[in-house]
Amino acid sequence: MKVLQALLGAVAAVSLFAASANAQNYPERSITMVVPFSAGGPTDTVARLVAESMSKDLGQQIIVENVGGAGGTLGAGRVAQADPDGYTVLLHHIGMATSATLYRKLAYDTLNAFEYVGLVTEVPMTIVARKDFEPTDLKGLIDYVKANKDTVTVANAGIGAASHLCGMMFMSAIETPLTTVPYKGTGPAMTDLLGGQVDIMCDQTTNTTKQIQGGTIKAYAVTSPARLKIFPDLPTAVESGLADFQVGIWHGIYTPKGTPAEVNERLSKSLQLALKDANVVARFAELGTEPSSEADATPAALKAKLESEIARWKPVIEAAGQYAD
Ligand code: ASP
Repeated sequence: MKVLQALLGAVAAVSLFAASANAQNYPERSITMVVPFSAGGPTDTVARLVAESMSKDLGQQIIVENVGGAGGTLGAGRVAQADPDGYTVLLHHIGMATSATLYRKLAYDTLNAFEYVGLVTEVPMTIVARKDFEPTDLKGLIDYVKANKDTVTVANAGIGAASHLCGMMFMSAIETPLTTVPYKGTGPAMTDLLGGQVDIMCDQTTNTTKQIQGGTIKAYAVTSPARLKIFPDLPTAVESGLADFQVGIWHGIYTPKGTPAEVNERLSKSLQLALKDANVVARFAELGTEPSSEADATPAALKAKLESEIARWKPVIEAAGQYAD
């Protein structure tokens, strides 16, 4: 028995040593960054910019893998199950917090299935419509959808997506339920908006800016507290009469539970550098957003944000009483 115990102890010590030696040499091969939405959408855009810059510092390629579906919960579930070795990471947004309440059954326990790397950015949303949609301002939009509530369609990226959250906020603010059309991401939803197959959407500036500037979709409002530099003529939802209609889509990077602290710290340092990379800063600005601060791009800040956001959205979601199974 004693021999067996000693043997087990030795095995444990060796694997602990191996884990910390691996953490010191990390990363030794490419890293997969799971984006829980389709390619070409807003989360994908943020992830690819940050991944490219972090790859330079880490000396290894970060490969973005899009695992869309179920409002981001499929991709998050994939990472929750991955080996906790630092070679699979998740870049997700506010949906990480809202899904914890929205889904009655999740394949993972949000607060216990992940480790934290840091916050990345907070992106404003825009309320937009297909180009030829009749209303010309937010007030007109509200009157129009109320009068045509049986035919107006709202695109979103599934329950738990930012577009879903913002769409729910809109319907609840105007007390008018509308027909929603779910996609695996607002990348494909935008394609349908451009094609005129759906009417309206609330989506992040990281996906809508180019289209708004190009005049290929109509924009009614931004959800930020103040107007954005890139759209000085676009009013905020609040100034157009939707009281309290403010939401920012914060993003963070996570690793599976059990990933060594040194690895998360290494990724966090790399994230902090990426958020100061002139190209990332410039692209973010063009897309209506800005990088999180160095203090926020840390494991502790993301953990605190996730916890507080779960607590913030829980009563709101419970009051709406709409869940996904
Ligand atoms: N962020 C999602 C995407 O990248 C969309 C959403 O959350 O609404 O498609």
